[in-house]
Amino acid sequence: MEQRKRILTGDRPTGKLHLGHYVGSLKNRVALQDAYECYFIIADLHTLTTRPEKEHVLELGQNVYDVVLDYLAVGIDPEKSVIFLQSALPETFELTLIFGDLVTLPRLTRLPSIKDMARAANMDDETVPFGLVGYPVLQAADILLPRAHLVPVGKDNEAHVEITREIARRFNRLYEAEVFPLPEALIGDVPTLVGTDGQAKMSKSLGNAIMLSDDAKTVEEKVRTMYTDPNRIRADIPGRVEGNPVFIYHDAFNPDVDEVNDLKERYRQGKVGDVEVKRKLARAINAFLDPIRERRAVYARQPGMVEEVLVEGTRKMQAQARQTMAMVYDAMGLTGPRLRAALQTGASFRLLA
Ligand code: ATP
Ligand code: MG
Repeated sequence: MEQRKRILTGDRPTGKLHLGHYVGSLKNRVALQDAYECYFIIADLHTLTTRPEKEHVLELGQNVYDVVLDYLAVGIDPEKSVIFLQSALPETFELTLIFGDLVTLPRLTRLPSIKDMARAANMDDETVPFGLVGYPVLQAADILLPRAHLVPVGKDNEAHVEITREIARRFNRLYEAEVFPLPEALIGDVPTLVGTDGQAKMSKSLGNAIMLSDDAKTVEEKVRTMYTDPNRIRADIPGRVEGNPVFIYHDAFNPDVDEVNDLKERYRQGKVGDVEVKRKLARAINAFLDPIRERRAVYARQPGMVEEVLVEGTRKMQAQARQTMAMVYDAMGLTGPRLRAALQTGASFRLLA
């Protein structure tokens, strides 16, 4: 049987997932579950780069639960795909350290994504932690630990996949072994979904997100107060459709193309009110979320289900991680791992092979 190619992608457990996560990455994951061998990581170590405080660490359990439930709710099937917890794998810590030596500091510090994250966490050049600068290195370890070929992510993560390729290439060259594939990013059909407030990115921390777990009333309320064309103070003024979040969401979540085109047409002519455009949008988003809500309810009713998925997934990933690290250390010829193996098996250890 031909070996299927592998996917690795995932999310930081910083809270419940939203529509941005869906269009950026989750949608592709669900679609590619059969064609690829899929590994989905809940990247709790990544949250420590900006929030290492104990109070946040203690929130991770609940957040991990919420993310796994979101995965199951959107249709990630644990029978087909592996869902695992990053910090359960010591191999992640090991590979990150090795990869840190295969990329330059300026390559990392120049990344806009790292600057954005630092700014969002109120950090500057003087206070940015080593770990946050190394965020893409940790991500490279995540992606390459299962030796993945494809990484479905939002636009903000594209540069990190590029760094992952560079690290993989460097490793293979230095140690003259084809241990790692050169993975490619797969950007969702909406590369970055705007927020309900019109800001460039829907983000939980910006408070401009519609969560996959929001109930119908909450969605209606969030859509009702959404940012649209600010120049359009009356319904009979022609409005702008392009770049208007309400229409971006219509395009992304309303499958009734005729309805959307009709609304756009009338909006441009000043012949439709925001109320109608938004009412139809809320209806479309709720119709999109309904099956997700139903699946969530089914899974949430089964006690221990989320834990079971995580235990099984992490067990499967563990086997891959061990195999990869054996390949890595073998290619490098590093002595310590051989000593460790000798200690584990009770075999004798020789420094000079
Ligand atoms: P938040 O700011 O809401 O916590 P995040 O960017 O921190 O979201 P991550 O866990 O870092 O979320 O990213 C998970 C995946 O979701 C990544 O592939 C990221 O690119 C994608 N993603 C997150 N927000 C959006 C968005 N608004 N549009 C498209 N993709 C997104
Ligand atoms: Mg997040």
